[in-house]
Amino acid sequence: MVNIRELSVMCGNCRTYQTLSGFVRREEVNVYTYECENETCDSAVTRTLVEVHRDVDEFANRDPNWRGGGKHGAHGDELPEE
Ligand SMILES: [Zn+2]
Repeated sequence: MVNIRELSVMCGNCRTYQTLSGFVRREEVNVYTYECENETCDSAVTRTLVEVHRDVDEFANRDPNWRGGGKHGAHGDELPEE
C-alpha cells in the first residue's frame, strides 16, 4: 500500500518541498499534483504529477469522498487528518 502523506516531493529546481495542490481520479490511477510555493519557480513549469495505482492508494481509499486540494488547491480544503 502507498500512503501519499508519507511521501515528500522535492523540486529539483529550487530544492524545496512541493505542496500537494490537486487530486484527480482516473481509470486505473489516482493522480496527485504537487507545486512549488515560492517566487523561484513558476509552478506551471515545475509542477509534479504523482500517479498512484488505485488498488494500492491507501490514502484515497480511506476517504472515498475526498476531492483533493491542499491549502492552495483548487478546492481550498486542507488534507484530512489521520
Ligand atoms: Zn521549485
